Amino acid sequence: MIQPKSYSVICPKCSYSKVVHLQSDVLDIRDIILFCPKCNSLMQKKEPSFVTKFIDFLTKYTRTKRNSA
Ligand SMILES: [Zn+2]
Repeated sequence: MIQPKSYSVICPKCSYSKVVHLQSDVLDIRDIILFCPKCNSLMQKKEPSFVTKFIDFLTKYTRTKRNSA
């Protein structure tokens, strides 16, 4: 089963940000055009947070350890 993805998007103009939850039938955030509700600028995908990167690192590390054992 495909889990719905979620992305953080941020407005480059006013820094308004929100989290978008993608349905499984949506392939990519680029398929959705998001406009800032405050200033109507095109919102951009935010870089993954430190916590997200850390969890990703841990997941990869654990997988590597398991494969080499
Ligand atoms: Zn804005």
